[in-house]
Amino acid sequence: MEYLVAPDIWWDGRLRTGEALRCDGAVTPVPLADVPAGAPRRDFPGTLLPGLVDAHVHATLVDPATLRAGGIAAVWDLGGVLEQVAALAARPFPGLPVMRFAGPFLIAPGGYPSDRAWAPPGSWRELHSAAEATEAVAVARAAGATLIKTTAPLPPPATTAALVSAAHAAGLQVVVHADDSRGVAATLDADADLLAHTPWTDRLDAGLVRACAARQRWISTLDIHGWGEPTASLVTAVANLRLFREYGGDVRYGTDLGNGPLPPAVNPREIRALQAAGLTPDAVLTAMTETDLTEISWIPGGLELDPPHFADSVATARVLDAEVRPR
Ligand SMILES: [Zn+2]
Repeated sequence: MEYLVAPDIWWDGRLRTGEALRCDGAVTPVPLADVPAGAPRRDFPGTLLPGLVDAHVHATLVDPATLRAGGIAAVWDLGGVLEQVAALAARPFPGLPVMRFAGPFLIAPGGYPSDRAWAPPGSWRELHSAAEATEAVAVARAAGATLIKTTAPLPPPATTAALVSAAHAAGLQVVVHADDSRGVAATLDADADLLAHTPWTDRLDAGLVRACAARQRWISTLDIHGWGEPTASLVTAVANLRLFREYGGDVRYGTDLGNGPLPPAVNPREIRALQAAGLTPDAVLTAMTETDLTEISWIPGGLELDPPHFADSVATARVLDAEVRPR
């Protein structure tokens, strides 16, 4: 049992003062007055908050230790060579983020990303039958995967149905890369749980977005469009995400790190794009955090929640290590 104490703690959707974090396997905010005299405690300047999560990376294509040094406590790997990703997820040396992962892209024959130079052999697997889909889920699960990744156009219906039902039977969530209306509609028919990106090719109609908001979570990846330069696809994606939010959809912060010139750190451009889609600073932090993670992030200079300064403030986050003792 240890207490972490700071002037501010951002937790569960809001900034709190006069509280501490009690760490006893789980992490729970408690009133400062409840911290027993003489209890083990560490005091920090600034703001403590749940570990920040990037829900779309390709960890074997970047240096994950650099990413963690840049403030990201945990990642979801959405496509890589299963053995390599599983080995990283075992955290064989200190300084790596917590990882959950999907293993290889499980795709239709000839499907995305088998035609892409950045996708190495073994990072995708073509499914030729329902039996292969079921077997591929079992292989990924045995290696520790908690997600299954596939791409639109999806494999033939019987294959996709086998893939999704095997994943769901094993408690794995299905994440789909789908960028346009047709692909997104297919993900609903397939009962997919998450989209790996905010769709960007066309403006989705309201009925489609409303159905997605009721049944899916979307991972943002807005900054893949232009990497800071305005583009038509960014405008389309921001509009789709805004509508998804208006229908109550749950957004996860994700960057697609490993694919294009993205900073291996908290990405303030992704945060600003989320704000452009209508998320408040508290909503952005909710999209960047998970309730069941015991990692803690820390903003030494203090979190700034005023919208113009918010993104740059979050970008100064560090991941708390057991040995950090600033005072
Ligand atoms: Zn990706």
